[in-house]
Amino acid sequence: MDRPTSFDPALLGKYDQPAPRYVTYPRRARFCEAVSAADYLQAAQASNEDPIPKPLAAYIHVPICHRRCRHCTVDGIVMHEPDTTARYLTYLKREIALQGALYDHDRPIERLSIGGGTPTCLSDVQLADLLNTLHRHFGLEKGPSRDVSLQIDPLNIALERMATLAALGFNRLNFGVRALDPRAQRAIDRSLGVDRLVELVDAARRARFQTLGVDLILGLPGQSPQGLSAALRALTELRPERIGFYRHSQTQPGRLLASDAGLLLREAALALFGAGVTQLTAAGYVHLGMGQFAWPTDALAVAQRNGKLLRDTEGYTAQADADHIGLGAGAIGHVNGNYYQNALALPRYYVRLDAGDLPIWRGFELGADDLLRQDVIRRLMGEGRVRFADVERRHRIVFRNYFAPELVALQPLAEDGLVELQRGALLLTPAGHLLMNRIAMIFDSSLNELQPRRLQMLR
Ligand code: SF4
Repeated sequence: MDRPTSFDPALLGKYDQPAPRYVTYPRRARFCEAVSAADYLQAAQASNEDPIPKPLAAYIHVPICHRRCRHCTVDGIVMHEPDTTARYLTYLKREIALQGALYDHDRPIERLSIGGGTPTCLSDVQLADLLNTLHRHFGLEKGPSRDVSLQIDPLNIALERMATLAALGFNRLNFGVRALDPRAQRAIDRSLGVDRLVELVDAARRARFQTLGVDLILGLPGQSPQGLSAALRALTELRPERIGFYRHSQTQPGRLLASDAGLLLREAALALFGAGVTQLTAAGYVHLGMGQFAWPTDALAVAQRNGKLLRDTEGYTAQADADHIGLGAGAIGHVNGNYYQNALALPRYYVRLDAGDLPIWRGFELGADDLLRQDVIRRLMGEGRVRFADVERRHRIVFRNYFAPELVALQPLAEDGLVELQRGALLLTPAGHLLMNRIAMIFDSSLNELQPRRLQMLR
C-alpha cells in the first residue's frame, strides 16, 4: 500500500512522546538475567525441530570504531587498535563455532548484517576470515536471494575497498553519513563532503552493489530546514535505495548532550522530520515507517506494498519470519520466538568464551500474552494494519474482547484521525503512519497503563 504523506505539525506535536522503536517486543529494558545460555540451547534445538524450520538470519556486532563520535550513544564501543580488533575477531570466531554447532546444517544463513560500531575496522582479510568461518559453521546462502550487508563509515573507507567488499560477497552497504549540512557536521565533528559521498556511491555502483542505504540524524545542533533540504537534494540525486532518519536521542546520555546546549528543540526536530518526509516522498521514495524510506523498486518497498514488511531486531526486513542469531558482544538474537542478548562489555564476553560457554547475558522468554501483543505491534509497524480475524486465528482469542481496553484507548486517536477502527481491522491513517510506535505503545502491556482497567473489567 503506497501511503500519501500527511504531516500535521500540531497533531504530531500533540502525540510525539518518547516511544520505543519496537525492534523487539518486549523492549530490551525488560530483558532479564534469569534467561541463560541453557535456555538458548533449548531454543536453538526447538527451532531445528520445527516441522518447517524458519530461515536463519544473523547479525554480527563489531563494537569497534576509529574514534568516538561526539553524538555517539552506542554502549560498549572500544577504539580500534590492530591488537584489539584482531583479539575481538578471534573471540567472535569462537562464538560462531559454538553457535554453528547448535543449528542443523541444512539451514544456511540467508540474511547477514555486520554492523557496529565500524565493522570496516576489520581489514578485507579479516572480513574474509569472518565470512569463511560463518560459511564453515553455518553455511551462507550464495544465491540471488542472499542479503549480506555491511555498515560503512564513509569517513574511513578507501574507494578501492568497494570492489573487494563486493568480491567477498556483500551485496548491500549502509553508509553512516549522519549529516551533510556543514553546520550540523561541525557540531558532531564529522566532515564529509558531498563530492566524497558521490565518489563512494559511484565506486559502490561500479562494484555492482544491489542496495545502498544512507543514514542521517535529525535534531543536531545547527541543523536547519535549508541545510537538510540541500542534503536531501544531493542524496536523492544519488538515489540510494534506502534512506533512514534517526532522531538524535535527547533521553540517552551522550557527550553531545553534556557539552552542547544547541541541540534542536523537540518542535524544531519534528519540523525537520516533517520537511524531510515531505521532500523524500515528493522525490519518489516510499516511507516505510519510523523515518525509514525505500525506493519503490527496493525489496522493502515491494514487501510493504504486498503486506509482507516485517519488523525485527534490525528494523525493517522483507525476509519471511526468521530465527535470528545475534553474534558478537551485545548482539541480540531472536530464536524460537524468544530474545537472547550477549554480554555487552568485552571482558565479560571474553571470559564466557574462555570458559567454553555461550556469552548469553540476558533475554526474554515470551508467554502467550507477549506473543500476541508482539504479533499486533509487528503488524502495525510493518503492514500498518491489524486484521482481527488473522490475530484471532493465530492466537485463539476474540480480539474485541481481549483488547477491549486498548480499543477504548484508541478512540481519541481515531477522533484525531490517526487510526481507523473498522469492524474487523485497525488501520493506521497516513497521519498515524508517522506516529506508529506511539500508537503501538497502546498494545505494550508494560507501557500502556491499561492493566488496572483490564483487571477492573475482569472483576
Ligand atoms: S561510528 Fe557510530 S558507533 Fe562508532 S563512535 Fe561514531 S556514532 Fe558511535
